[in-house]
Amino acid sequence: MRVHNFSAGPATMPLEVLERARDEMTDWRGSGMSVMEMSHRSKEFVGIAAEAEARLRSLLQVPEDYAVLFLQGGATGQFAGIPLNLTAPGAAAAYVNTGAWSAKAIGEAKKYVDVRVIADEKDSNYASVPAEGTLEVPGDAAYLHYTLNETIGGVEFPYVPDAGEVPLVTDASSTILSRPLDVTRFGVIYAGAQKNLGPSGITVVIVRRDLLNRAREDVPGALDWSAMAQADSMLNTPPTLAWYLVGLVLEWVEQQGGLTEMGRRNQAKADLLYGAIDGSDFYSNPVEPAARSWMNVPFLVPDPALEKPFVAAAAEAGLSGLGGHRSVGGMRASIYNAMPIEGVQALVDFMTDFEKQNG
Ligand SMILES: *Cc1c(COP(=O)(O)O)cnc(C)c1O
Repeated sequence: MRVHNFSAGPATMPLEVLERARDEMTDWRGSGMSVMEMSHRSKEFVGIAAEAEARLRSLLQVPEDYAVLFLQGGATGQFAGIPLNLTAPGAAAAYVNTGAWSAKAIGEAKKYVDVRVIADEKDSNYASVPAEGTLEVPGDAAYLHYTLNETIGGVEFPYVPDAGEVPLVTDASSTILSRPLDVTRFGVIYAGAQKNLGPSGITVVIVRRDLLNRAREDVPGALDWSAMAQADSMLNTPPTLAWYLVGLVLEWVEQQGGLTEMGRRNQAKADLLYGAIDGSDFYSNPVEPAARSWMNVPFLVPDPALEKPFVAAAAEAGLSGLGGHRSVGGMRASIYNAMPIEGVQALVDFMTDFEKQNG
């Protein structure tokens, strides 16, 4: 029996994708072998890779003047990859701090660039984003980085910041493909796959091609966007199985109706869960309503001593992965594309029962 899995990442995948992968596991479409046994240079795998890229381009409407890379090292690798690819030593870059993942990106970037934190949400206890139109990007910044969705804090930008002529870089790890996004507003969009795109082990980087000539000479090959773009992301052996699975997830998103439909469903799921939280005196979510994430919903019970019993009883009821991040405690429900509204409804029903018994 499969549970409803609310884990933040690695996270739930569409059952249809898992079943398809199972059916193709030992003999991928008559090739006589599994995808993980194929040479990455074989025409079969090159086809799988190209098809995944084409589907991602089509879903997100990525223009031709952007490269789409499939890399390793996670979003964390790109925390270093961004300054190494976009700046010369001694340069400055602007960052917005909206929470834990912003802070990690900033910490890593400080090894390589003069980081200017131009907005920090500490006064709101990282429960909001800067008001639209308030960011002032220094003219000498090589780029502006922000975290589109804070997976731990449950804070999501409801707008795309205006960085003027400065390239805009965003960590979209936990929200990519959850709704339409205007790629043309960005210089770079990057995302680890294990939230909304597939399994862990592969990271998508979408980069405007005019930014591919700014790398430092000592950028490691595995993080070198330009070299990777020239080599179709196969400068070295790529994570072939993960790449294939991302392709299956992209096909599934297409079959569901693409990003407009995903956005409609995700908004309905988020409305259902936030509605239940706001409608109760027992549960609470600290995030300013306009900045609430559609993907990661942290919530609290009145007495922290009830957190462990909540998570344990939920697991008994087939609702898995509801413990908050180890750094913040509380509870968190991650409701990515692959989480059906039935799963969110089951959680809301469980929450109502738990409140009756413990409220
Ligand atoms: C999960 C996550 C990361 C870290 O991803 P890794 O693949 O573990 O490096 C970075 N940023 C955000 C927003 C995330 O959700």
